[in-house]
Amino acid sequence: MKFDLHTHTNNSDGIYSPNKLIDLAVKRGLFGIAITDHDNIDGLEEAIDYAFKYNNFKIIPGIEFSTVHSGHEVHILGYFIDYKNETLIELTRDIKKSRIERGSKIVTKINELGMELNIDEVKEFSGENFMGRPHIARALIKRGYVENISEAFTKLIGIDAPAYVDRYKIEIGEVISLIKEIGGISVIAHPGLIKDKKIIDYCIEKGINGIECIYPKHSKDQFDCFFDKANHNELIVTAGSDFHGDRSKNVLLGKYYVGIDTIRQMEMMR
Ligand code: AMP
Ligand code: ZN
Ligand code: FE
Ligand code: FE
Repeated sequence: MKFDLHTHTNNSDGIYSPNKLIDLAVKRGLFGIAITDHDNIDGLEEAIDYAFKYNNFKIIPGIEFSTVHSGHEVHILGYFIDYKNETLIELTRDIKKSRIERGSKIVTKINELGMELNIDEVKEFSGENFMGRPHIARALIKRGYVENISEAFTKLIGIDAPAYVDRYKIEIGEVISLIKEIGGISVIAHPGLIKDKKIIDYCIEKGINGIECIYPKHSKDQFDCFFDKANHNELIVTAGSDFHGDRSKNVLLGKYYVGIDTIRQMEMMR
């Protein structure tokens, strides 16, 4: 029984709607997925309702919070969250608003660098509700300024690049506490992408419940290191593909997964 614990829908910067994502996951032979949109819970209810169509297909309500800690981007996953919690709803609403504002600021910086782009071109990819840098990247590709998303980040919108704009900041400790408060399990997402490894210990100090050890971009050595750390600290070992539905990476969904034992372990830890 396979469960992919890291997926995105078009409620953040993924391509597929929750329903399409579920159809695809069923086709791939999965028994369930966690939907973990960036700072966003909008697709969860719809997904849970739709999944009833398939007997026994499990949707784990999740979220991937973006945090910044001493200049590094850190993503914290929350699982089994109460997505009807008012504090959570309000927080995600504020973040959404600030993301749209940040999008406009990034577009202004891009214009100041001598490139033409307006916010409506970004909205063609993002819609009105949620804006992420990958949407800006897709608009830049369409304009022909960059060839791919990764180039957009390196040259323009990544953390050390000229059109970077900081985002809404929420502290790691606050995120971990909130997830706990709303009945969820917190997990450090893709720790291999965090340059300062001390941040992992910081998350553990703050009470994180698990580490996403199995991730497409992790090497064998990275996996070993995170797996040891998880075992040492009695944390849950999780896996996820970080599926966004991009055509070139369409094969990812379900390639990285946990078994039913991990799901039970998570449910018991709540
Ligand atoms: P945002 O949440 O708007 O700050 O955008 C962050 C998202 O952009 C991440 O969750 C990734 O999906 C993507 N991303 C971040 N850095 C890169 C990169 N260097 N190349 C490609 N995608 C990236
Ligand atoms: Zn994303
Ligand atoms: Fe992430
Ligand atoms: Fe993600």
